[in-house]
Amino acid sequence: MLVVFLNFLPTTPTMSFLDKFFGPTYEKELKSIKPIVNEINALEGKIEALTDQQLVDATNKYRGEVSAGKNLDEILPNVFALVREAAKRTMEMCHYDVQLIGGIILHRGKITEMRTGEGKTLVATLPAVLNALNGKGVHIVTVNDYLARRDAVWMGQIYAKLGLTLGVVNHDASFIYDETHQEKDEERDEHGSYKVVYDFLRPCTRQQAYQADITYGTNSEFGFDYLRDNIEYEADRIRQPHHAYAIVDEIDSILIDEARTPLIISAPAADSENLYPTFAQIANQLERDKHYVVDEKLKSATLNDEGIDIAQKALGIENIYTEKGIKYVHHLETAVRAKALFQKDKEYVVRDGEVVIVDEFTGRLQPGRRWSEGLHQAVEAKEGVPIQKESKTFASITYQNYFRMYDKLSGMTGTALTSQEEFFTVYNLEVIPVPTNREVRRIDKNDLIYQNESGKFKAIVNKVKEVHGKGQPILIGTASIDSNERLADALTKANIKHEMLNAKNHEREGEIVAAAGRKGAVTLATNMAGRGVDIKLGGPEASKEDAEFIKELGGLFVLGTERHEARRIDNQLRGRAGRQGDLGETQFFVSMDDSLMRVFGGDRVKNLMGTFKIPEDEPIEMGIISRTLESAQTKIEGFHFDSRKQILSYDDVLNAQRQTIYRRRKNLLMNEADEADKVIKELYEAFPETEKTIEAKKVEFGEEVFADVFRRLVLQLIDMLWVEHLEVMGYTRSSVTLRAYGQRDPLIEYRKEGKRLFKEMQYALLHRLNNVLPQVQPKLVEQEEADRKRESKAAQEAAGETPKSKAGNRTPVVKENTIGRNDLVTIVKGDETKELKYKKAEPFLAEGWTLK
Ligand code: ADP
Ligand code: MG
Repeated sequence: MLVVFLNFLPTTPTMSFLDKFFGPTYEKELKSIKPIVNEINALEGKIEALTDQQLVDATNKYRGEVSAGKNLDEILPNVFALVREAAKRTMEMCHYDVQLIGGIILHRGKITEMRTGEGKTLVATLPAVLNALNGKGVHIVTVNDYLARRDAVWMGQIYAKLGLTLGVVNHDASFIYDETHQEKDEERDEHGSYKVVYDFLRPCTRQQAYQADITYGTNSEFGFDYLRDNIEYEADRIRQPHHAYAIVDEIDSILIDEARTPLIISAPAADSENLYPTFAQIANQLERDKHYVVDEKLKSATLNDEGIDIAQKALGIENIYTEKGIKYVHHLETAVRAKALFQKDKEYVVRDGEVVIVDEFTGRLQPGRRWSEGLHQAVEAKEGVPIQKESKTFASITYQNYFRMYDKLSGMTGTALTSQEEFFTVYNLEVIPVPTNREVRRIDKNDLIYQNESGKFKAIVNKVKEVHGKGQPILIGTASIDSNERLADALTKANIKHEMLNAKNHEREGEIVAAAGRKGAVTLATNMAGRGVDIKLGGPEASKEDAEFIKELGGLFVLGTERHEARRIDNQLRGRAGRQGDLGETQFFVSMDDSLMRVFGGDRVKNLMGTFKIPEDEPIEMGIISRTLESAQTKIEGFHFDSRKQILSYDDVLNAQRQTIYRRRKNLLMNEADEADKVIKELYEAFPETEKTIEAKKVEFGEEVFADVFRRLVLQLIDMLWVEHLEVMGYTRSSVTLRAYGQRDPLIEYRKEGKRLFKEMQYALLHRLNNVLPQVQPKLVEQEEADRKRESKAAQEAAGETPKSKAGNRTPVVKENTIGRNDLVTIVKGDETKELKYKKAEPFLAEGWTLK
């Protein structure tokens, strides 16, 4: 038996090749940085002597030098020293040497791997200031809106001290950092690492937030704003002037975990036949293994003849393939997939009558995201909630292609090394691990492995009791909301008081996580809950003695209840303990029922345990099993990497076209680069007879009016054709996969088809112009434009939102004119109501509350 089992072991440790390849690079890089750090340190005395005003003056001087063409590397030591001084004066934090190193790596357009608690938020301020000096804007990307606000308020004082402006883009609001609230400064200094002091954030327009020197926001808002800009009809509403430099915090989460779902702006299509409930009912009658088989690895469900028979009877037809065709078959398969592979509270939750996707890596809710090809509707039908209409795509992009647009991209995280190959091949980003400020003293214990879940739960409860009994704080990480809730029940039954977090309300959870280091705290959290918030031993306001007391108990205990599909996520969880040289312990509890084990070779191990007659709640610490787990993780990581690569290679085809169209579109919108003349030239080549028409129109309307009408007409046509093109490309994508049975490489086919379709589209533009021009009138163009504007606005607003919040009363930006910041307002959500000052209401509005 062991022999069979050995096949599961990785033949070579996967990273060894890369280590050899990259290893010396890290050292070389760090070596080249060392003298710069010394230089910065040597400047400390000189800069300490400057007055506050001189700090601002110095910054402005460098700004001038940069616009005169000076290389940023030359002024780096001086500027970093200024930033460090500003931090010292405003928040009594002085960048550690390792933080300077991290800052230099970020400035060089690489990923700095620094562990949790090393102070990456502060690290980002260094390259942010330096790179903002060229006036093109720096985007700092966070994983959620709350962290964007927190980091802006917390770090804003540094930027303000140097005379730089700071903006924040949130989902439903935009802010400018407002430094006039000195009286609030103490509150911020005390709680800034987990609490947002809203007085420092003044609502503003989206455009203002982007015009700031530095802008904080989430990956999804940055991405959606790019798409919004590209369906915009008013030149002065363009939001993002440049994509110059981005610093992505928690870069692995954003560029890897979230990179499998592209950003899509879509709005409901006119109508669609409602077959979903019918097929949900049919799926309901089918049983797993009797009527269909499930392959968990491939995430597929296949009907057998018996299953198809039942469906045909229910529909009252003889043969679904011949009588109803591909559409019905597609619906049937989708309904079965929805039933067999998508579990409530695991893959999704139902909230306020909506199906909301749960990110499988992070456990975070993804409101506004929808599965494609009718799957989302099928799940809605299964849950009996209202079925959202199918929609038409206005614009889409993958995160990969969005972030590759930046002139310079950089990032930071505690866990990048296990994915360095992907960062390098996809984003051309190198990972440089930076040593910790203090020596790591965390103890990572071996996994404990149980035969089944009930045995594991019993053991976890016992462990929690033991740790909690001593007063040692314990953070329990789970892989899904569902297992979070079941474990919570088990703890409640055992009379253990605990806090539970599901990554649902980041702001409140931030406070709870910040307190997770208190004496006796038991905190139960899904992987992502509270990410980015620091856990100090003894709690956020702990005295030295409090912290000391917890240290004596061994620091924070982190208990993982399941190994995750990616090693990175496990490492993230572990990283919550032992920050800045603190003591800490971590341990994973694993069972043969865990999906990782079940799907990847669990049976053999299970048999193995049976053979040894091990009781269910007795752990086995067996190296071989831990290794199996890790090799399974490596395999799954590779599998996901492949699937992301595939999504990317398809999007690459579209991306080249998108760039062409968007460039042309932007030029037309801004009336730049003689774009309209270029179109006219193409038009004359394809249809020489149009020359006469155009000349006649020029006389009819006057040159200027004609130029304007023509420009707007082309813009409208481009948008119309592009939306159609996106749709056709979507079909093409599924049809080439079918053709793969004919032994042709689907990607090559897709490229070929894509190229042909794009050419066709470009020709169609000229062709339609040729048809339309003779009848064109300024009034018609204006009417059409009004319609387009309405549609585009609706689509822009729909971006990244649930229909619910869309219907609500939104954006403080608009309200700002009518409601004062100190006015009392009433806000509602469900049947809850609150009365409070408008400025206090803003964060709630951002979370989906509405004004009454
Ligand atoms: P990370 O993002 O790397 O996990 P954070 O940016 O959340 O870390 O910072 C962790 C904690 O370390 C924060 O509470 C912050 O106040 C503290 N910190 C960071 N840098 C310094 C410094 N140079 N001096 C003192 N405290 C620091
Ligand atoms: Mg952080």
